[in-house]
This record gives sequence, C-alpha cells and structure tokens, in this order.
Amino acid sequence: MRHLIAGNWKMNGRLEDGSAIAVPLRRGADGLFVDLVICPPATLLLTLSAVLIGSPVMLGAQDCHALPHGAHTGDLSAAMLRDAGATWAILGHSERRANHGETDAMVQAKVQAARKAGLRPIVCVGETEADRAAGRQNAVVGAQLIGSLPADFEGVVAYEPVWAIGTGRTATEADVAAMHAYVRASLVRHLGLPGQTTRILYGGSVKPSNAGALLALPDVGGALVGGASLNAADFLAIAQAAHEVAAPPVAS
Ligand code: PEP
Repeated sequence: MRHLIAGNWKMNGRLEDGSAIAVPLRRGADGLFVDLVICPPATLLLTLSAVLIGSPVMLGAQDCHALPHGAHTGDLSAAMLRDAGATWAILGHSERRANHGETDAMVQAKVQAARKAGLRPIVCVGETEADRAAGRQNAVVGAQLIGSLPADFEGVVAYEPVWAIGTGRTATEADVAAMHAYVRASLVRHLGLPGQTTRILYGGSVKPSNAGALLALPDVGGALVGGASLNAADFLAIAQAAHEVAAPPVAS
C-alpha cells in the first residue's frame, strides 16, 4: 500500500522559511510512490497553497475548532482552514491533549467538524512513558481510539508514543509492530470492515536513518514526522524510503 508521510511543522516557520522548504519538496516529490502532506502553521497555508499548486504535495492544518463559527477568539474553523488550502488536519496531537486539555470527546467533535468541511483527519493517539512503564499502553491507546473516533470514521490514525516525540528516542521495531497490530484490531472492532484498511501512521523521532525499517513493518501505513519535516532534504529522504518500501516493481 502507498504510504502517507505527513510533516508537522508545529509552531515553526515564518514566510520565507515556508517557501524555502516547500519549493524543494515540490521538485523532489515528483515520481515518488507516496502521499505527501505538510502541515505548516495556519499563517502559511494560503501562501504555500500557491507555491504548491499543481504539485502532489498536499497541505494540512495542525488543529481545527469543533464549531463552524462563533465567539471563539483566536480559533479557526475547519472550513476556514479548507479555504486557506488545507485538505488534511492533524487532530488530537499529544501536545494539544497535554497543553490545551483536549479530551477524546473534544477530538471526536473536531473529527466530525473536519469531515463536514472536507478535511481528512489524522487522529493522534499514544501513551506516555509512565503508561508504558506500568504496562497499560494498550489500554490507554484503545480508550483514546474509541473515544476519539466516531463509528463512521474516515481518515488516518497516527500512533505516537508521547515519550518518542521530539526526544530522538524511537520505539523499537518490535514495540511499533505490536502496537500497530493492536491498533488494527481495535479499529476493526470499532469501525468494522473499514478498519481493515484505515492507514495507521507511526510518529516519534522518525528520521532518514530509521524510516525505511519502520515503514516496512506490517500495518505501518506511513509516518507523522515532526522535527525532520522542517528540513526539506530529510523529509524527502523519508519520502524516498517510503517509496522504496511500497513502490510496485517496474516491469522489465
Ligand atoms: C510529532 O510532532 O508528531 C512528531 C512525531 O515529532 P518528532 O518527529 O519531532 O518526534
């Protein structure tokens, strides 16, 4: 299956940085058997949608409000983000769950709002280091999935162990494989047949040196990349690794 590689720029990138990353991505993405999305700060969406016009690189938002409009100072609705050029939205990232008190129910409301506005959600789940030390990683991730995904969910799930995000520490291949198998089984239980094909991304210190091995694991349908997505060469190297893992053989 074709992988999805999504870059989460977080609160990084002024106007000139955005184009400095997006222009080489535009050039480098051609011919790669991979779906590529970058999620810059919302302030860059409109500019980058012009830079990326006609390119296979898609744009995503990092969040959206659950409501379509109203008295919510500083927030952006899913339709506003769609207007600015986003076609994807990262929802329920662990930094938003931790720093903005987002609950599973709030994430689920955002998923519904995103779908209604035509944004494809990438819903993040993942355990903390304390959860893993206590052996409750499956229970935590399973509860997040049930709470965050509506029964008719259409979109992508990203498994991101919180302790691996931005730390340089990556989950072992065995741990990633075990958790992705667990997420797959949970999705099938919760969503039925569509759960068999929902893409499950891995996120947590993915870089060019570990991408190939992680992306080759069963049930890893791509990667959500933070730090390495701020460097066009690194992001393209990860995309190239995804291409090599998934591209159909060329007929001779
Ligand atoms: C993320 O922010 O979702 C992430 C995975 O970050 P990093 O790749 O830097 O660990």
